[in-house]
Amino acid sequence: MTAFFSDNPVFHDEHAARAAMEALRWPDGPVCPHCHAKQQSFEIGGEKQSRRAGLRHCRACRRQFSVTVGTALERTRVSYVHWMRLAYVLSQTGSRTLSVPEVAEALHMTYKTAARMLERVSDTLVTYKGLLDKKRFGPPVTEFVVKARGPQPRLRFPQNPRYAKHRARVGQSYVRWKERLKLDASATPIPTGVLRSKENPSLPQENLDRVERLLMVVLNVEQAEARAARKKRSGWEWHRRRFQKVRIRLPNGARA
Ligand SMILES: [Zn+2]
Repeated sequence: MTAFFSDNPVFHDEHAARAAMEALRWPDGPVCPHCHAKQQSFEIGGEKQSRRAGLRHCRACRRQFSVTVGTALERTRVSYVHWMRLAYVLSQTGSRTLSVPEVAEALHMTYKTAARMLERVSDTLVTYKGLLDKKRFGPPVTEFVVKARGPQPRLRFPQNPRYAKHRARVGQSYVRWKERLKLDASATPIPTGVLRSKENPSLPQENLDRVERLLMVVLNVEQAEARAARKKRSGWEWHRRRFQKVRIRLPNGARA
């Protein structure tokens, strides 16, 4: 395993990462994504080598599922550890913005994989309607959501604070902006301390809360909503376009 910023087992051990993701997606026990039955599933165990760890069987509808089924992380062939690491890198305090090459370097993966992973995360982030400030998710994520939402109207400085009419007008444009975006403070995920329970004093605790919030948003978004959001997504687009251009260009000028 290559060196990573944190030595929390969640970012290194596949089982710990999956357990943390399950706890974040299903705080009250596993729910079947196919039939929404609660407490009706069990983890498929046994000697068989072919089964994937974390695969569950639902007694109600007799179908199988894992944590990522029905979420944006479905069918990506990326390990749980890498998703956890991506969430950590995006929630870091230090960097303002993150480009695809930077993420690829931090996670020790190819440009292509990093771009695809960022795409999945950004699709779901567009749907986020909760509170937002730089401390809640970290600067890179906040900047992305702000871009997707459009600029927030100025709240202070009425034209003339002496006039009640002018004072009342302040914040009206903000209310209209909020209504248009359907913002809702209750959509803000509240960290449950799943990652913090792994106790790592060397890491800032606030940072782990950000990782948790980001993962909760990504794991709990409706797939249909994320698909609709994909159309209006604008961040990280530049890298994707550049990547596709590079890919189809052949040395002799022929088309791929
Ligand atoms: Zn079911």
